[in-house]
Amino acid sequence: MKVTTDQIDFLESLIDQGIELAATHPTMGTFDIRADEVGPFLADPDLFIATSFGVSKETLRGYNEFWNGFQCIGTTQQGVQCKSYAPNGHYVDSPKLFHPANTNCYCKIHQKQAREKLH
Ligand SMILES: [Zn+2]
Repeated sequence: MKVTTDQIDFLESLIDQGIELAATHPTMGTFDIRADEVGPFLADPDLFIATSFGVSKETLRGYNEFWNGFQCIGTTQQGVQCKSYAPNGHYVDSPKLFHPANTNCYCKIHQKQAREKLH
């Protein structure tokens, strides 16, 4: 959705009158949004949020999946994602922290392997 300059001005006039703008996204919950951010958010909410964290949409998607029960991102010997419980998963509290070098993204078995890989 294209938001025109006039529409942004209108939204800013609402904000000047004490009306707040908020958006909702699975990663963020509900958060304040500026008038000039409404267009980019509506165009692609996932890209907007991913960009705000400095990560790709793919990383953001993986992060959201990870938070659904802290499923280990390690790979089993069968070549599939482990998905066992990652006991320190709650420390991965930002999409920026969701990456293969972060040992908190793994179950106890894969955590050990990931740690060995780093050294
Ligand atoms: Zn695992």
